Amino acid sequence: MSTSTPRIDPLSFLTDELDSLKVQGLYRSLRVLDGAQEAHTTVDGRSVVNLSSNNYLGLTTHPTLKTRAMEALERFGVGTGSVRTIAGTMAMHVELERRLAEFKHTEAVVVFQSGFTANAGTVSAILTKDDVVVSDALNHASIIDGCRLSRAAIKVFPHKDVDAARAILRDLPAGQRTLLITDGVFSMDGDLGPLPALCDAAEEFGAIMMVDDAHASGVFGRNGRGTVDHFGMHGRVDIQVGTLSKAIGALGGYVAGTRDFIEFLQHRARPFLFSTSHPPSVTATCLAAIDLLLDEPQIIDRLWENTRFFKAGLSALGFDTGMSESPITPVIVGDGALTMALSDGLFEEGVFAQGIAFPTVARDKARVRTIVTATHTRDDLQFALDAFKKVGHQLGIV
Ligand SMILES: *Cc1c(COP(=O)(O)O)cnc(C)c1O
Repeated sequence: MSTSTPRIDPLSFLTDELDSLKVQGLYRSLRVLDGAQEAHTTVDGRSVVNLSSNNYLGLTTHPTLKTRAMEALERFGVGTGSVRTIAGTMAMHVELERRLAEFKHTEAVVVFQSGFTANAGTVSAILTKDDVVVSDALNHASIIDGCRLSRAAIKVFPHKDVDAARAILRDLPAGQRTLLITDGVFSMDGDLGPLPALCDAAEEFGAIMMVDDAHASGVFGRNGRGTVDHFGMHGRVDIQVGTLSKAIGALGGYVAGTRDFIEFLQHRARPFLFSTSHPPSVTATCLAAIDLLLDEPQIIDRLWENTRFFKAGLSALGFDTGMSESPITPVIVGDGALTMALSDGLFEEGVFAQGIAFPTVARDKARVRTIVTATHTRDDLQFALDAFKKVGHQLGIV
């Protein structure tokens, strides 16, 4: 043991950063669930109606999915012990990709550990520093990270502004390799990317078309096939990313496209090559979820009935719910502190709806984000609306 002066913590600059977050009122402690991820749960010791998860279809605790996960765990163990390209590909991994490709009506699919790694791994694998990405201003962080890793030039167009995207594409040199990319459903506003018009633009200017359907998987299109199916754009989108972590209830991301494109990713996408594959229980859960989407699409109808009921209720109370077209309904307050007061007040009333402020959304667009699921009852939703009414009045928001 050294007896010299105590070592100065070389990470103390991070403590200063945290202190600064505290001064700005942006320091957050994690909300902790005491039970499962369900429509009704216990958070930080309080029983709440849960409007904060992406568990659109309530599949996190679905009995059939749990059974299939347990069977796989018993038979194949808790982990795979390898990356996909060495010894971590089991028959069920191949089966899941085959089923997903069939489901999406594409030639092939590759599954990644998460939607995040699917986006970042794909974009960074296919582009180089000589290429260009044309990207919606509100696209997901994982797309932005993929672009940065690729070192391609990133040209951002204002949210949903197809004319601006076209102007960027028009100005590029002939033969410039370009990726045009949008979210299918935007995660903070719940609006849809203008996929048909973007497909037109991609075709006109010869760009690769990519859509990130994380919030559309299991929610939009027939049986939850996503926005490409919703808009009838089959065959016009080169790269579709979906998630298995939201409506599907488990964990993972997938990329759907042509066989050669998918085989290329198996050779070059770094999360596929350098990070261990899904445990058998996760893969079996996802397979069971595909069966469920195909056999019981009524569950998606219930999600949409609840969505319509809740949106209408919030609007009738006078809240600004923005441009949402999906089960994500933002309650836009504007001011960050007032938004957090609304979220805290709702929590006191037994409703868990997270406040979201800068830098996740623009400074003057802070909001409480709500997501209903297929498993909320009408009583749950009415209870939540009553709480919004009470706290909204108390705070002078409505
Ligand atoms: C959640 C999300 C992802 C990441 O998906 P995970 O499976 O949670 O990693 C990617 N893109 C968008 C638009 C998302 O909302």
